[in-house]
Amino acid sequence: MATAGLALSTALPGCAKDTDATVASDSRARSYITHDTDVLVVGGGIAGMAAARQALVGGATVLVVDKARAGHSGNSGLSWGHCFGTNEGADGDGSSLVPAMVADTQGMIDQDFVLAIAQGLHESKPARLGEQCGTILQRGDDGKAQYNANDAALPVTCVLEYRPYRVARQLMRAGVPFIDNTMVIDIVRAADGHVAGAVGIDLKSGDAHLFRAKTVIMATGGYHWASGITAGSPESTGQGQAIYMRHGLSLKDMEFFAVDFETIRPYGTMAKEKDQVEIAGFAAINANAGMFARNKSGKFFTEGLASSDVDNTDSFQAVIITAAKEIIHGNGTPGDGSNNGLYLDLDRVTAVSHMLPAYYYSGYLRDSEWGLGYQQPKDVEMLCDYYSSGGWPSTKPGTCETEITGLYSATMTVSEWGTTFAAGQGYLAGKDAVQKAKSMDFPGFAETDVQDILNKAFGMLEAAPSDPVRPIDIHRNMQRAFYKGMNLIREEQGMQATLDELLRIQEEDLPRMNVPVKSKQFNVDWRMAMEAEGMLLCLIGTTQAALYRKETRPFHIRTDYPVMDNANWLVHVWVKLNGDGTWSIDTTPVNDSIIPAAQINEMLPPVDMSVPNTYKTQ
Ligand SMILES: Cc1cc2nc3c(=O)[nH]c(=O)nc-3n(C[C@H](O)[C@H](O)[C@H](O)COP(=O)(O)OP(=O)(O)OC[C@H]3O[C@@H](n4cnc5c(N)ncnc54)[C@H](O)[C@@H]3O)c2cc1C
Repeated sequence: MATAGLALSTALPGCAKDTDATVASDSRARSYITHDTDVLVVGGGIAGMAAARQALVGGATVLVVDKARAGHSGNSGLSWGHCFGTNEGADGDGSSLVPAMVADTQGMIDQDFVLAIAQGLHESKPARLGEQCGTILQRGDDGKAQYNANDAALPVTCVLEYRPYRVARQLMRAGVPFIDNTMVIDIVRAADGHVAGAVGIDLKSGDAHLFRAKTVIMATGGYHWASGITAGSPESTGQGQAIYMRHGLSLKDMEFFAVDFETIRPYGTMAKEKDQVEIAGFAAINANAGMFARNKSGKFFTEGLASSDVDNTDSFQAVIITAAKEIIHGNGTPGDGSNNGLYLDLDRVTAVSHMLPAYYYSGYLRDSEWGLGYQQPKDVEMLCDYYSSGGWPSTKPGTCETEITGLYSATMTVSEWGTTFAAGQGYLAGKDAVQKAKSMDFPGFAETDVQDILNKAFGMLEAAPSDPVRPIDIHRNMQRAFYKGMNLIREEQGMQATLDELLRIQEEDLPRMNVPVKSKQFNVDWRMAMEAEGMLLCLIGTTQAALYRKETRPFHIRTDYPVMDNANWLVHVWVKLNGDGTWSIDTTPVNDSIIPAAQINEMLPPVDMSVPNTYKTQ
């Protein structure tokens, strides 16, 4: 146990308590600042904010720690203002969202879990909360604050201009302490396995922090930064998923690492200035939004497709399948030699301006109205990249509590339902975590565990290997290896080569990692060193899961197994890092307690990548 220290501040209601616990029993012991809180929320994105708010409302002391700046960072920081899907306006208890979720995840969602999320979202009303916190939601043409951007049949409204930082500020006003720029590197646990808190490093000062907590909510987002080419945030390095893995939790569905066409070439075109990454991504090739994507023959291929090819055009996955078919059958861009992209026709893109938050579009408008002289190319190239990740730990039925008691996962991101899931599971996790925290004392833990975590982190800073490799090189090498064999379109040989290279990096490069400047303050190399191992674990897990799944199912498109095979593969692939560093893989049938597997089979349009898209008109 850390020795009790001097209280630095008197706790406000809802405010965690700080103590300074410098441990002097061992001359090599690392000192740290201790904070006590009932509920610790790690990550200040949409999920973390929903969790923190709910824990506070439930009467607990809450503390939020974020690697960057809570409310501004993560994918929520990047995508705020985009389409925040909420079912709070739907009739009933919210459960009507379940069939759409099941269809849009190609049957791969745990149905008890999604039911709880859908009901939680309906109950928590995140859009209304956003407005209560000062957000002014963008109005549709009809003047309503919410409108449905895609499909009137869906029990979801798409809210534009949702801003998590407003919720963050509201929580700050209510007394919740936010500790920014502090990266959680591991959790600590009691002898019986219960989570007992987390350890973090202040990235500005290098100070260590111990957060003693009764319950911990991981809301750290995904790991798509590890893929190298991503529209996601640099904070998304998978530390949450890595912590789950290091503590023996199996992760499921890592192979469904969501991809999109969001990276634009040439870089710095107008597409970037008005943030057409987003137009290029979801809307570009969505038949409802407009036909912006062209193949190499200049054909707006979604426009000419038979309905059987895109009979579920609202499904992001169906659109990805359609685009991938163009590429597989030789109609993609030749630009990078890999025929891996599509063309975006910028002349047509303007047609979706009404869908975009004004600030995205303003650059383009001013440029054209004021005659600033920018020459917009007609076509730019859209490349495939990653924007949210898989890898969810198993949770107790219908909850966000993992198999580590007191540890809640709010890290699940699901393709276009990202904001929906983040808000829903954050709410659920916060609601349950506060109940547990209120009924218990602080769990004890061994001081040696804290010291082990800190020694590992500071050891990375202090190490001076004889044959050094910089952390940035390790990041880039793993990203390069992953993007090469684990892109949207995959096959055995390429994935195996990726896995071999990732394992080589783990074995040969990681032990040689060297932080060249030894300062604890603002040391980006040190930060990258602390991120590297977790990123590698995420990528190795994902590649193994992808090798294992021998079928095509969006976003996992295999040219060697081109057919979606519901008879054999309506199963989750579970990847587990064993204590000895080896890996195991297991499968379980999807939980079909609400919509039976046979019915899922009928709901999903067949997928066969070997058959090219068939156009209505030539
Ligand atoms: C460009 C783009 C556009 C998108 N558009 C849409 C859309 O239109 N509709 C939709 O539904 N979804 C969309 N998404 C997805 C959606 O933004 C995400 O699913 C959602 O924001 C995830 O929220 P989150 O809270 O789970 O994670 P994040 O927002 O990523 O938050 C994670 C937080 O955890 C912090 N963190 C990470 N690691 C640590 C650590 N070790 N210690 C402490 N803190 C840590 C990060 O700094 C960050 O603040 C989009 C995503 C992108 C990138």
